[in-house]
Amino acid sequence: MTEYDVVVVGAGPAGSTVASLLADRDLSVLLLDKDVFPRWKPCGGGLTIKTLNRYPYIKEIVDSYTYGGCVYSPSLKQYVSKTMEEPLIAMVSRSRFDDYLVRRAVEKGVIFQDNSKVLDIVVSSENVKIFLDNGEMYNSSLVIGADGFSSIVARKTKLLDSRRNVGICIVKETSISKEVLDEFYTEKRIAYIYPGLEGITGYTWVFPKRDMLNIGLIHYHRGENTSNYNLKKILVDLIYKLKEKKLLPLEVDDSDLKGGAVPVYPLDKTYSNRVILCGDAAGLINPLTGEGIYYAMASAENAADTVSEAFKKDDFSESSLSIYETRWKKDFGEDIGTIIPSSKIWRRDYEKLVEIVKRDPILTELLLQLITSQVSIKSIKGKILRRYLIASIFK
Ligand SMILES: Cc1cc2nc3c(=O)[nH]c(=O)nc-3n(C[C@H](O)[C@H](O)[C@H](O)COP(=O)(O)OP(=O)(O)OC[C@H]3O[C@@H](n4cnc5c(N)ncnc54)[C@H](O)[C@@H]3O)c2cc1C
Repeated sequence: MTEYDVVVVGAGPAGSTVASLLADRDLSVLLLDKDVFPRWKPCGGGLTIKTLNRYPYIKEIVDSYTYGGCVYSPSLKQYVSKTMEEPLIAMVSRSRFDDYLVRRAVEKGVIFQDNSKVLDIVVSSENVKIFLDNGEMYNSSLVIGADGFSSIVARKTKLLDSRRNVGICIVKETSISKEVLDEFYTEKRIAYIYPGLEGITGYTWVFPKRDMLNIGLIHYHRGENTSNYNLKKILVDLIYKLKEKKLLPLEVDDSDLKGGAVPVYPLDKTYSNRVILCGDAAGLINPLTGEGIYYAMASAENAADTVSEAFKKDDFSESSLSIYETRWKKDFGEDIGTIIPSSKIWRRDYEKLVEIVKRDPILTELLLQLITSQVSIKSIKGKILRRYLIASIFK
C-alpha cells in the first residue's frame, strides 16, 4: 500500500504516541524512522512523575526510580541535597522505551517502517507526497513531523528556518553493576547535578539507573552554530575529578561520548496545510530543565485530537489545523512559554547560590519540586524568590 490517511515521520515518543492514538481512531497510519530499531537516542532518560501519571502504561518500562537530588557548586566544595519518601524521577533506557512505544503502536495497527529516511515532502491541495531515500514514495492526506531537532518535515514545509535558542549536549550511558551503583548512589538512586561548570550556561547531570549510569552535559546558547566552549573537555575533566573525589565509579571512562541537541524555543507556527509538528520538531521543550519526553507525548495527544477532527470534517487546511496550537498552549504552554530564556536562568554564580540554598531546607525542597516539574515556574517563582532573599540576608 502506498496510500495512508496519515504518515508520521519519526518514531520517538511523539511519533509513536500520535500514531497509536490515530490507529485507535481507525485511521490508516504509516510510521517511518530513518534508524533501525531499537536505536540509541542521546538522552538522560529521566521521566517526570507527571509523565507517568498521564501515561500510566509506561510504568511497565521504567528501569528505576530516583528519590533524591544533590546539587554541587562548580568548585565541588559545597553541595545541597535532599532525599524524599516518594520518587522524584523515573528512569528509562531510551532505546528500550522508544522501542516499547513503537511495538505498542504496531499492536494497534500502525504500519512501522524503520531504516527509512524521509528526504522530501511535497504538499499540494490534493495530498502530501513523502519521498524516502530508498526511492519509495507514499501519499497521505496529512503528514505529522515528529522527526526531532533537525526535522525535515519542518524544514521542507518552511515552518523551520533555523532554531533561535538551542541546548547543545554531550552524553554517555554505561553499564555498571547494581551493587556498585548502590554503593555510590544508594538504593534511592540519588541524581547529581553540577551547574555552571567552567562558566557554561547549563549543567552536567549524573543519573544512576538500575544497572546503568547516564552522564551528560547541556549548554544553552543562541542559534545552531557550535558553541565556543569545549564541552567534551569539560565533561571529560569532570569525569576524572569526580572519580578522584570518589563521587563516580572508577569503571566510568571517557569513551563513547555522543553529541545531541535540544530546541529550547517553540517554533512561531507548529502547523500548516496538511502538516502538524509534534515534540522536538515543534520546539516543545521545558527550557529550564531540557525535559522533552512529556511534551512530545502531550503534543502528540493534542495532534491526534486535531487530526481526527480534521478527518471528520474532511478539512486539512491550515485554518482547520490551527486548533492544534491552541490545544498545546492550553495544555502545557505555561511550562514552556512564560519562562525567561534558559541561557539567562543558567547564567548564575552557583558557588554563592548553593551556599545560600543549603541554609534553607524548604527552599531546597521548592527548587527540587521546580526542577522535577512537579510545579510550574509561574506558581512557585514568588515563593522561591522570597525565601532566597531571606536566606541570602540571614546566615
Ligand atoms: C542529551 C539529551 C538528554 C536529554 N535528556 C532528557 C531527559 O532526561 N528527559 C526528558 O524528558 N527529555 C530529555 N531530552 C529531550 C528528549 O530527548 C526529547 O525532547 C525527546 O526525545 C523528543 O521526542 P520526539 O519524539 O519529539 O523526538 P525524537 O525522540 O528525537 O525522535 C525523532 C525521531 O525521528 C527520526 N528522524 C529524524 N529525521 C528523520 C527523517 N528524515 N526521516 C525519518 N525519520 C527521521 C529519528 O531517527 C528519531 O527516531 C534530552 C535530550 C538530549 C539531546
